[in-house]
Parts: sequence; structure tokens; C-alpha cells
Amino acid sequence: MKCPLCQTPTDRNWRPFCSASCADLDLVKWLRGSYAIASHEPEDIEQAQQQLCERLDKPNL
Ligand SMILES: [Zn+2]
Repeated sequence: MKCPLCQTPTDRNWRPFCSASCADLDLVKWLRGSYAIASHEPEDIEQAQQQLCERLDKPNL
């Protein structure tokens, strides 16, 4: 079995990776990926808050 990141033979302590650095790298990639997916939601919340603030600034509406 080879490390999916650098193709070095896998170390049994770090399966399926070859080393701690590749295991960390994969975790970072995974976290970035999930942040990228999750980032759509905070934007929507921010937009909703902005719209709410605009409404509060115009009590007539
Ligand atoms: Zn590796």
C-alpha cells in the first residue's frame, strides 16, 4: 500500500499515509474542504443580518 498523497510506501503507524506530516496534510485538506462547503451558510446568515439591520434603520417599512 502506498501513501495517497506522496506515493511513498505506507507506514503501519500512519496508515493509509506514510508519515505524520502526510496524515496532517490530509487532515488540513479535509478541514479546508469542509470549511469551503460550510462557508455558504455563514454568508447567508450575514446577508440576513444585513437585511434585518437595513429594515431596522427604516422603521417605516
Ligand atoms: Zn506521504
